[in-house]
Amino acid sequence: MTKKYATLCLALMSFAMARAEVIVSSPDGRISVDFEMKDGKPTYSVLYDGQVAIAPSALGLKTNMGDYTQRLKWDKEKERTGEQHGSYVLPSLKEGQEHNFKMNTAILQFSQRERPVMEVEFRVSNRDVAFNYTLLPQRDTRSCVITEEASAFRVADNALTFMAPQSNPMTGFARTMPSYETKYTLGEPVGKNGWGNGYTFPCLFEVPNADKEKALWILVSETGTDGDYVGCRLLGGNGGEYRIGFPMEGELNGWGCTSVQMALPGKTPWRTITVGHTPANIIETTVTWDLVEAKYPASKDYSKDYGKGMWSWIIGMDSSCNFDEQKRYIDFAAAMGYRSLLVDALWDVQIGRERIAELSRYAQSKGVGLYLWYNSNGSWNDAPQSPKGIMNNPYERRKEMKWMQEIGILGIKVDFFGGDKQPMMQLYEDILTDANDYGIMVIFHGCTLPRGWERMFPNYVASEAILASENLHFSQGFCDAEARDCGTMYPFTRNAVGSMDFGGSALNKYYSASNNRGSRRITSDVYALATAVIFQSPVQHFALAPNNLTDAPAYAIDFMKTVPTKWDEVRFIDGYPGKYIIMARRAGDKWYIAGVNAMDTPVKQTLPLPMLEGKSTVSLYQKDGVKPVKVTKKQTVKVEIPTNGGFVIVK
Ligand code: CA
Repeated sequence: MTKKYATLCLALMSFAMARAEVIVSSPDGRISVDFEMKDGKPTYSVLYDGQVAIAPSALGLKTNMGDYTQRLKWDKEKERTGEQHGSYVLPSLKEGQEHNFKMNTAILQFSQRERPVMEVEFRVSNRDVAFNYTLLPQRDTRSCVITEEASAFRVADNALTFMAPQSNPMTGFARTMPSYETKYTLGEPVGKNGWGNGYTFPCLFEVPNADKEKALWILVSETGTDGDYVGCRLLGGNGGEYRIGFPMEGELNGWGCTSVQMALPGKTPWRTITVGHTPANIIETTVTWDLVEAKYPASKDYSKDYGKGMWSWIIGMDSSCNFDEQKRYIDFAAAMGYRSLLVDALWDVQIGRERIAELSRYAQSKGVGLYLWYNSNGSWNDAPQSPKGIMNNPYERRKEMKWMQEIGILGIKVDFFGGDKQPMMQLYEDILTDANDYGIMVIFHGCTLPRGWERMFPNYVASEAILASENLHFSQGFCDAEARDCGTMYPFTRNAVGSMDFGGSALNKYYSASNNRGSRRITSDVYALATAVIFQSPVQHFALAPNNLTDAPAYAIDFMKTVPTKWDEVRFIDGYPGKYIIMARRAGDKWYIAGVNAMDTPVKQTLPLPMLEGKSTVSLYQKDGVKPVKVTKKQTVKVEIPTNGGFVIVK
């Protein structure tokens, strides 16, 4: 679409919406935010190339100081516009090189009974719209409770959804839900409300259009949440309208309220809307991190300890968590040149603290560092695995972390959290903050979505917050749908907004130590290699097993030895959630172009790959091996992705 045409569309649209006015546009002018007051209610909408992405939707907060969703006056003369730009380096991200961002901003002020009560700030980049609220103190009132957030997102009625239903609280294994472990919808129409509780972030919408170039892809999420707010979800059930929901009463076993306690003036987290005609902006967005800042300085350079690792639990389960087997995995990690080994649940009883210290010394002698698993409990669910009662206790936690530092532990994986209420969000923050004092990196499992945490907490590594590899062990049905529900879904959704601890890329044929029984992997070996590129986390604990040194193809083992976990750039090439994905990541001067396919028929494509400029041959991993292939003069490469298979091109 030409710029002129876009402007014309925009003009027509503004005309159609009569009283709404553009308050801020993206630096390239393609995204704009319209605003209007409707009977005292603030309402915004988002346009992309003149097309409506978010139709007029509500803004506002309900608090115990007042209802700031209605009877508001827009103090138009107080509007402040400006620009936010900056740069940062975050090697833990999908775009780890010096990253520059630029956003145009507008701050709107609202008053009630002649007193300013609330501000809404919009920030608009070339890919994203974000907004948050500032609540202002009233006379002697310097704290408040937010009981409800009215923020809504109305998408077109013909939009299709790709989103994970919020589970019922206190359900699932040992009543550990919600833990962001439900299956994404596959293009379901709008209008439902999940299983009755809405959906967890991020939420992806496609607005199809007969003219493909006018299709819209919209990702709604939030960022900047810490112990000062609750984790929110998206409630549906009203056509294309979705709105912010606070946690459910039953979370945390019913303890703690669902509202937010806030000091004034106070800011809410950011609501983010990423939009484009293809999913490219969604896969490449950095809005989650552009909007936040570090909450404390790093106590050391964590990035030098990022890298590959493994864990025995995914193949060997609880019984593998013994001294001899962990030692065997340390030798395996060393043979692979990996940086770490994750020692999973029950190490405190099956190995013991003294021998963990011995194991850690042994690992370090081989250049391998250990991660130790902890149960976050607590009183919020019934998960019995130990060690427990440590990470939820400030004194025990710090004592434990001091011990870990003394014996050279690299990091922790803390599991089985209790939902998104404010005290639970505070626990995440407390664990991270304390761990940084002892130079410990943190991975969360059975947990909430990270919301900008890679930048806010420098020792934060990644979270599960997804149906992850453990389900491949537990269920053949999950294995059968792995390409559809994981490989071709997560890059468009969960992994677009945060480092994801999936723990996959198994090369065993079966999820068992004997490798001849248990659930069977139906994805190919090259699929495993491709997802090592497609799934992003600065620390990857792969589901490899020592027997893979002899029973897996040599090309696959060699690839898994060298695949990076730190990336400098990401690009979407082609794909559709639940069907197939082709994307590229760059590490230094090396490009990895990877794809996987969940459809019944192979994907055959001649890929234009401008990043291969100046290269005549590349290594192509495809079907059962790797071979050098010629790059055509037009910088294209022909690829074929079989059903449940993958490909990787390495330049
Ligand atoms: Ca889990």
